[in-house]
Amino acid sequence: MTDVVIVAIDGPAGSGKSSVSKQAARRLGYGYLDTGAAYRALAWHALAQGADTSDAQAVRAAASDFPYAISLDPDAYWVRVGDTDVTDAIREPRVSSAVSGVARVPEVRAQVNDLFRRLAAESGRPGVVIEGRDITTVVAPDAPVRILLTAAPEVRAARRSAELQGEDAAAVAAALHKRDASDATVVDFLNAADGVEVVDSTDLDFAQTVDAVLSVIHQKQAPEAGTRSRRPSHVS
Ligand code: C5P
Repeated sequence: MTDVVIVAIDGPAGSGKSSVSKQAARRLGYGYLDTGAAYRALAWHALAQGADTSDAQAVRAAASDFPYAISLDPDAYWVRVGDTDVTDAIREPRVSSAVSGVARVPEVRAQVNDLFRRLAAESGRPGVVIEGRDITTVVAPDAPVRILLTAAPEVRAARRSAELQGEDAAAVAAALHKRDASDATVVDFLNAADGVEVVDSTDLDFAQTVDAVLSVIHQKQAPEAGTRSRRPSHVS
């Protein structure tokens, strides 16, 4: 994936991966790529066309004409489908409920994975933090830094319901667990693949989680820095 440094971060809903990845990207001067937004935007697009998102054929048809754009700037995040800004709309519970149906269609996954790799390669940044469910395993399995960000299910549900104020907490928790269960049949984002570092944010606040993630990133990049610093400063 060219010479852009990829930091791959996977995790379940409510693990804090979006906000943590965005902040880590800011601190590193890297781009930030939210891959879930593509699946959400496609679900939004299919729903806007009145398509049944549990019907793979209907989802493939929606994906065949999907004018998608996303910002990789952690300080100016937006998501568009054609001329419509869908940044907020794709977070609505009706989209969250439909997204797993869209994400289970293999052709859709192949299509968006190509897009993710291209967006990262063309970001114009020294690196990109890519977050999702299968980044460490499928999208960028060779990334120099691969992290699985986890948290206990009840903590994830509490975080998500704090984000969705006005929604019933029990309903939010139920929807989140249902989506995780459905997503987990498509990709395994609850167990770390070989070589993937686990950061458990259950007992960490936001700043501590960002620090824990940055510390893994620095550790993974340290061997290279160590080699550089051991190099003689002059050759006689
Ligand atoms: O990360 P977020 O919760 O916004 O992701 C929305 C949905 O997109 C997930 O529930 C999952 O169905 C899908 N997704 C995926 N693979 C990714 C990222 C997200 O299947 N890499």
